[in-house]
Amino acid sequence: MLRWIDVIKYAKYSNPEPPFTVEKTKAEWRQLLSPAQYHVLREKGTEPPYRNLYCRSYAPGTYVCAGCGEALFASQEKYHAISGWPSFTQPLSKSGLRFLFDDSHHLQRIEVQCNVCGGHLGHVFPDGPAPHGLRFCINSESLRLVNE
Ligand SMILES: [Zn+2]
Repeated sequence: MLRWIDVIKYAKYSNPEPPFTVEKTKAEWRQLLSPAQYHVLREKGTEPPYRNLYCRSYAPGTYVCAGCGEALFASQEKYHAISGWPSFTQPLSKSGLRFLFDDSHHLQRIEVQCNVCGGHLGHVFPDGPAPHGLRFCINSESLRLVNE
């Protein structure tokens, strides 16, 4: 299980090796993604709180990256964080995500990216539920729910 100290270490030193990588040009991503997906994944945008697809969705399945299809989060790890965005306590695997310090907007946060395609997903915070205390605050536009 991932702990906050692991997240800090990954951001500070180096992230786990991805299972493989997907690289595309800006033009290719624009063709593949909707404008809203492109804004979040490739321009580090943030979608509006609450008015997004998966905020209140608790359907079972696997959340995959909307950019490359890598499996990122299981619906069992999704919980109601009252933040306005889909929130998860743990990722599916340690190698699926990468963590980077983000000092934008005068905030010290840790950005979460898809480790396969480098798409921006959201941020991770140390105020999640026990036992591991992580809250992955993820944009719906960066995800696609695949029902099992
Ligand atoms: Zn991806």
